[in-house]
Amino acid sequence: MGGELNSDNEKRKGAMDMCLTCRLLAGELVPPGGVIIRTDKVVLHHCLDVLVPGYLVASPVRHVSTVAGLSDGELAEMAHLLRAAAGLAEAIAGVEKVYVASIGEETAHVHFHLFPRYGWMREKAPPEVYAGGRLDGLRLMAHMRESCRAGKTEMTAREIVEVVDWIRMKLTPGKHAKDQTGAGVED
Ligand SMILES: [Zn+2]
Repeated sequence: MGGELNSDNEKRKGAMDMCLTCRLLAGELVPPGGVIIRTDKVVLHHCLDVLVPGYLVASPVRHVSTVAGLSDGELAEMAHLLRAAAGLAEAIAGVEKVYVASIGEETAHVHFHLFPRYGWMREKAPPEVYAGGRLDGLRLMAHMRESCRAGKTEMTAREIVEVVDWIRMKLTPGKHAKDQTGAGVED
């Protein structure tokens, strides 16, 4: 029995040592609406805790900590994924622009934020976001990430899941041929 406990503890410790992205890839964390797309090289999912529909995160499957560390194959797939995902996010109603950023202060696993800027954000933004009379995009994104921070249950909101499902269908059209013919049936 003691042995089992030890092995459980070791497992738990192993999981805690894993970064957020690796835990998600291992299936320990389920992003809102589920993983959107995963190949052997890249993965796309919705942001875990910010209630902004279409705020996506793209990462390599391999734990790499810098953009410079990406292999040629990973880079090529990432570039195509970013273009496709940003294009889809731009097409969401109300989205004016999509910011693409890799910062990595919270998670070492290199990842790209695809952050949709909606019209309502500019209206809601505090004055400091307009310091110098111009919209400061990084400040706007930082402000929204704080003010729209949400818990796991809130993140399963219909508006988030619908966008996730729609992007998944657009990125993998062949797999959803049946879903498309049956569109509306589940409603
Ligand atoms: Zn990782």
